[in-house]
Formats: sequence, structure tokens, C-alpha cells
Amino acid sequence: MNKTEIIDAYKQYLMPTYAPEVVLEKGKGSKVFGVDGVKAIQEQAEKLVHCSNLFAHEGQVKLAQKLVEISGLGGKAFFCNSGAEANEAAIKLARRWGSQNGGRYEIVTMRNSFHGRTLATITATGQDWCQQGYEPLPVGFAYANFNDIESVKAAVTDKTVAIMLEAVQGEGGVNPATEEFMAGVRALCDEKNLIMICDEVQCGMGRTGKWWGWQNYSVKPDLFTSAKSLADGVPMGALIANAKFADVFVLGSHASTFGGNPLACAAALATIGVIEKEKLLDAAAKKGEMLKAALQAFAEKYDQILDVRGLGLMLGMVTEGAAKDVVQAFADGGVLTCTAGAHVVRFLPPLSIREDHLEEAVEMMGDSLDELFG
Ligand SMILES: *Cc1c(COP(=O)(O)O)cnc(C)c1O
Repeated sequence: MNKTEIIDAYKQYLMPTYAPEVVLEKGKGSKVFGVDGVKAIQEQAEKLVHCSNLFAHEGQVKLAQKLVEISGLGGKAFFCNSGAEANEAAIKLARRWGSQNGGRYEIVTMRNSFHGRTLATITATGQDWCQQGYEPLPVGFAYANFNDIESVKAAVTDKTVAIMLEAVQGEGGVNPATEEFMAGVRALCDEKNLIMICDEVQCGMGRTGKWWGWQNYSVKPDLFTSAKSLADGVPMGALIANAKFADVFVLGSHASTFGGNPLACAAALATIGVIEKEKLLDAAAKKGEMLKAALQAFAEKYDQILDVRGLGLMLGMVTEGAAKDVVQAFADGGVLTCTAGAHVVRFLPPLSIREDHLEEAVEMMGDSLDELFG
């Protein structure tokens, strides 16, 4: 099939939850789990792809230990299959604990956040566009302004049990939290006996130059969630809780059939192994600086580019006009990016991208911008 045929067939046979215009055929290199990961999946697939969670297996234990260690939280993990499911687990854990601690259930989340597409997680998501048409929404969520601690304080009531946020808002426009805000949320949680939840689905797993986005700040959350790149392409989600909240879920109080299956655990362990072996945290920080400097140079050159922000290899370029026009121009020129809201072009290159490829991409984007704005 050629590109047009594929796009036409896509529109005919897939629900219109996406509208892709670029068709990809093949991937090579620039992929976190490269050969080691593929080998790990192959080997695991020959042994055991799935087993019921009524039985234990080594990969699950090793992965949980690894995640607890690299977070420094010292607690426990729960495995599931996606970011929404991981956040749903965090919400359920918070409510369960709240029910035992003063009958509290409300969770304060941030405007412009993104937490997933299940009913509870679209409600947690502080953006109208993903809630419209799905009312009535579950009760128990209140919203505050990101990077505005006074607004969070104002949203807390005697029913509040948790505050949930992304250290770097992804879908909401690549907005990093300020140190003051993160520290303020932590202090508020300590003062009011609330659970601090970080959604690390997008900004975690090395993306910002640290394992977890919140590790760029002076404070630790009580719970955090991971998914997306956790098993580098194999569906997997995780909820990690510190020791205080590690045993809120008890036998039978939450479950996921495929959560933590041997194949996904092997893939996640291989992913973490490659990030460690290839020192991709430092690489993400360094290459992030390179890319940021290049984008800042674009911003200086063109009035149509208003700002550049982000951490590590999670960067956003704020545009005066529609960001999708810039994304399209980049794609036409051979560089794939995406939007994060109407006016932000989002850059999430592979952590393993080669520096010369990054330079090449910058050059190509420069040409595209010349054509678009020059
Ligand atoms: C993508 C995303 C989710 C949802 O993850 P899914 O695996 O698509 O359910 C949740 N939170 C954040 C921050 C995300 O970027």
C-alpha cells in the first residue's frame, strides 16, 4: 500500500481517535532498547509470555526492586498496562487510604495536566477538551493552577486526600514545574496529611536527564506512576509508592490480569539496563542542552517563535501561530515532532539519538523554518 492508500484505509477502518498524516514503515537505531531489548523480549517469549498474577515470577520481582531503587522511595510497585491504568491505581490507592483516614476522597489536580483517558483519569485531567461528551464525570476532583501554590492551597478542603501533578506537564504544553511550586506542594501535603502523586508517564524514564522528572527538584512524592517508555514499546504501567503507602492495597483490593507479565517485565528490565549501560541519563541532559540551544537560536531568529522551555530531551517551542503548521513543515522536511496544545511544538527525540543525527535534524528544521517564516 502507498501512503495515500494507508491513510484512506486508516480513516475507513480505525476509530477517529487520531488523525495521522505521516506514515512510518520501518524503524532502525535511535530506539532505546535496540538489540539488547529485542533479544530480551525474544528470549522471554521463548520461556513464558504470560502467567496469572496468582503466580510469582522473577522478572516482576527484579523490576519492582529496580524501580524502587532508582527512585530512592524505598517502597513497593504495582504493575499494570498503561499510563491511565497506573494513574487510576494511584487514584484508587489515595481514595482507599483516605477512606481510612478521615473519610477523605478529593484529589486536587492541575489545569492543563494530562492523566489518561479512563473516566477517572479524564476527570483528573484539567482540560475540557478531553472531558466533553463524557459527563457525568466521577466526583472527587478539584483543579488548581500549575506553578501557583496559592491556587492549590485554595483548592484543598477537609475532604482532600491527595495532590496530583506532572513535574513537567507534557500534553499541556511542556511546562516544567518551578522548584518553588514542587517544594510548596510537598510542604502542603506534609502539613495537611495529603498524598503527593507525580504522574511520570511522560516525563519519567530518563526523559529529563534524571530517571524521574521529580528528581530535578529537592522533594520526593509519595506515589508516582510510569508507563509509555517504561518497557520501550511493550505495553506496561507501574505505580510506585513509598513505604508509608506501600501496603494500602491489600489482597484483592486492586488487580490487573496482564499487569507485570513476564514479557513486559523483561522488556522494562532490558530498557533500564540499556539506559544504565549507555549512560543515557547524562546523554539526555547533554543532548537536551544541545537541542535547547539550537531551538533558542531559532527563537532569536524568528519573531514567530516566542519561547523555548523544558527539561532534558523533553522540550517545547512556543509558536505565535498554529504549532501544527510548524510540525507539518518539519515533517515535510524530514523531522518528526508533535504538538502539545495549539501553540507548542513538542520535541521528544529518542534518548539514544546520535549527536550527529541531532545536528542533522537541527539543520533540517532550520531549513524548514526558513521556508515557512523566512
Ligand atoms: C500519555 C500520558 C498518560 C496516559 O498514558 P496511556 O498509556 O496512554 O494510558 C498519562 N499521563 C501522562 C502525563 C501522559 O503523557
